[in-house]
This record gives sequence, structure tokens and C-alpha cells, in this order.
Amino acid sequence: MVSSDQLIEIAKRRGFFWQGSAIYGSLAGFFDYAHLGVFLKRRWETLWRKYFLGLDENYYEIQPSLIMHENVFKASGHLESFADPVAKCGKCGNAERADHILEDVLKENFEGVSVEDLLNLIKKHGIKCGKCKGEITEVRQFNMMFPLKLGVGKQEKTGYLTGETAQGAYVNFKQMFEVCRKKLPLGLAIIGKAFRNEIAPRNALIRMRELTQAELQIFFDPDTIEEHPNFKDVENYKLQLFPFSNRQSNKIEELTCKQAVEKLKLPKFYVYHLAKVQQFYLDVLKLPREKFRFKQLSDEEKAFYNKFHWDMELNLDSLGGWKEIGGVHYRTDHDLKGHQKTSSQSMEISLEGKKVLPHVLELSFGVDRNLYSLLELAYTEEKDRTVLKFPRAVSPFDAGIFPLVNKDGLQEKAKQVQQLLEEHGFVVFYDDGGSIGRRYRRIDEIGVAAGLTIDYDSLKQDDATIRDRDSMKQIRVKIKDLPQILRKFLQGEELEKLKS
Ligand code: AMP
Repeated sequence: MVSSDQLIEIAKRRGFFWQGSAIYGSLAGFFDYAHLGVFLKRRWETLWRKYFLGLDENYYEIQPSLIMHENVFKASGHLESFADPVAKCGKCGNAERADHILEDVLKENFEGVSVEDLLNLIKKHGIKCGKCKGEITEVRQFNMMFPLKLGVGKQEKTGYLTGETAQGAYVNFKQMFEVCRKKLPLGLAIIGKAFRNEIAPRNALIRMRELTQAELQIFFDPDTIEEHPNFKDVENYKLQLFPFSNRQSNKIEELTCKQAVEKLKLPKFYVYHLAKVQQFYLDVLKLPREKFRFKQLSDEEKAFYNKFHWDMELNLDSLGGWKEIGGVHYRTDHDLKGHQKTSSQSMEISLEGKKVLPHVLELSFGVDRNLYSLLELAYTEEKDRTVLKFPRAVSPFDAGIFPLVNKDGLQEKAKQVQQLLEEHGFVVFYDDGGSIGRRYRRIDEIGVAAGLTIDYDSLKQDDATIRDRDSMKQIRVKIKDLPQILRKFLQGEELEKLKS
């Protein structure tokens, strides 16, 4: 079983990510992506973009700025209530997240519990300061927004670093509606940064102060929530669900989308998107089914404005079990109503003569948490090698290219193969250093699915071997067929079936 320390170590040693500002002793909650991390992140984001923007022709990507007007966050409620409970030690002043210190001891979730109750529980269970063992004397709410001073002198203003990408979609909704097709549903996707002054950043990419989110805000007519034009396509598709009522039994329930609508009283529009999110994890990213579930949040756990809230969770050994990596939130008209009130501008639109204040379904993904999860799920120790078995579609490179030896024209031939594959849009990695065995181990450890070797026979036969990272099996293929065969391999085809 892999530990989070092992993952952080391999991430650092191989060049996926490490702590930011490291030469100055680091800064908690900030991580820098190194070259392989950037490749992996880009892959994940590209797959996300293609898949979610592909759900409807009226879905678009936008890129709002990261610093926004104070009123944006007044309207959204962030300035008042984007806060976590902080427990303070009366002796040394150390501050910790109150619900987490209880969670660590009692192995239960304390999200949404009032500050008074949290303090009482801390006292009742005799929990002391994590630093000096002193008495915890205070629990209060701590706002996580980062204010910024903009400009100078008389013109100085306060802006805020955005706490979630979502607000950028809400404040742009009306203009986007006008410049696009003037119809609903309208989807606005944002892949961008969010900033949160977390009390206790931890577990590397899991709890950061600067994070990347990928979110799709779907604006729709609330009168159509009980339908989705493509529901038929998913009605027999089975969802992995962990409803609130199963908290005691701890059992995952497999329900078809149709059953989820009937048994759980969820609207079809919502359930359709649960199916699409699950398919992204199981069919696009190809993660194991048993590692994935949707967890229903209780009324105390979810934000008051979310009418339905199920989180995507992955079962991660290094973090002791199921971990939230995203959520599907039905936010009603909360956001547009808030901006309408604060800006005094109508957010209503006109649909065939009918005035509509759209409702929002938010599909929200923590990109960094997803990448950490990919790393853990890929991490495999075998007898004499460590392999990152990334799903082929997300491995940082499509293939490694190796001349068997550095003489007799093998390097030139390998370079030709590199050029050919790059011309076909593949991202490849050329390596002629060390024994071929060492080079295979190197790509195994960074998770490259295919190794292409040019040997003496390749010069005579105009072919190369492809080695499968996971089975370590090899086949020979003609170089002219390589782009097509590599494409099929990366799409998941078995190597044996690809012999040319
Ligand atoms: P939220 O807006 O809180 O629902 O967050 C959306 C997603 O971002 C969550 O499901 C997490 O996957 C991720 N996330 C939230 N907070 C953090 C954080 N501090 N560090 C890394 N990822 C986070």
C-alpha cells in the first residue's frame, strides 16, 4: 500500500510536482508543477475539455480574470460566509482547523457543525493543542478569501482573488447568452485557478491555497429539470451511489439512472449529468469502477443553496479511504439572484416570450486532487521495478523512443521515427542514454505506456518494436504503420491484437 510520503517523494524525484518557493524554505499550500506534472495536467485538462464541451453544442469555454470586484463576492456570499472553523490554543496561540482535529481523533465528519458545538466537542473529548498540548480555548469562523490592494492613492480599491472559478461564469452569463445562441441550456466551462487561505494546508495537492479547478456551469430553464433530451441513452446505465441512508452500512448501491430517478427522487436532468461525470472517470480516464462513487451530502454538510449535492469520490489508500475530488451541485437560482440583487441588473433572459431566471447545475472538479489520485492509482510496485500505470490516455508522453545503441545509424533512424510521430501529433520522448533496460525502467517510472526501440533489424526491415509498459510484452511493427498502431494502442487496444 502506497503512502502519501512515497507519492510525494516520487513526484519530486521524477519531476511531477514539489513545494513552491523551496529555495526559501517553502510556503505551505503552494505547489509548483515540474515538467512531467505539466504534461499530466495538460492531458487531464484536454480530456476534460473535449469531453464536457462535447456534451452540447451550446457549451463554451471562457477565461475570466482571477481578480474580481469586491461586489462579486458580496453578492456570492463569500465575504460573509466562505469560512472554516479555526481552533485556537490559549497557551501558544497555535491555530488548527477545528473540524479536522475532531475528525482525526473521532474518525467522523464534522463539516457544518457550529463553532459552539465544535468547541464543546473538543473539550468533551479532551483534545489539546497539536503543538504544545495546551488548552484549546476558542473556536471561531475564519474567512478564506484573499483581499488585494489594487492601484494607489485616491484610486486605491480592494479586489479579491477568486475563491472558486464559478463566479466568473455567473458574472459573464448574461453577456455570453447575448453573444451566443440565445438558448438554454447554456454551458460555461472554466479551467482556472482558485485561491483559498486554508487554515491547515495538507497532503500536497489535496488541500492547497492556490488550486486549479475545472468547472462547468450549466444554465437551464427550471421548468425542464425533470427531463433531459438524451436521458434514454443513460437510463439503464448503472451509477455507483453512496446515498446518505447508507452511511451506517457503508455500502455502495448500484442503481440504473432510471432507478436513481425513481428511488432517490432526483430529477432526470441531474441524474443524466451524474452518468456523464461517472463515464468520464470510467470510460475516458479508465479508472477502476470499484474505486469510484458518488456520495450524497446531508443537509448539514452541503451548502444551504445546493438543493442536490453528490460528491465524486475516489478510494485512495494513501489518504486512508474515500476522498472528495469534485461535486455535482444543483445550485438553483441562488447565484444569478444574488448578482441580480447586488448589481441591480436583471439576470433574466427571454425564451420564446417567456421570462426566465435560469437555474444552475455545476459540475465541479478539483484538478490537482484528480492528478494526485491518478498518481496514487497508477503507483505499482513489482518485483524489480516501480511502475506508474497511468491510463494510456493520460500518461505524460505517448511513447519513449530508443535507439538500441548509439552507432551504425540507429540514432538517425530513431530520430526519423520521432519526427514522423511528432508530425502526427504525438508527444514523444527521445532517450539514448544508458542500457535499454535502464531506459525502459525510466519510462516505467514516469508512466509512459509505450516504448519504441530501433535495433539492427529495424534498419533492414524498416520496423520498430513496441513494448507495453504494463505487460512488458513486445511486438514488431512497420514504421509506416506506427502512427496508426500507436493511436489504437493509446486508445486501449491490446498489443497482441496490433501486430502488422
Ligand atoms: P468547492 O468549490 O469547495 O466545491 O471545490 C471544488 C473542488 O475543488 C473540490 O471538489 C475539490 O476537489 C477541490 N478543492 C477544494 N478545496 C481545495 C483545496 N484547498 N486544495 C485542492 N483542491 C481543493
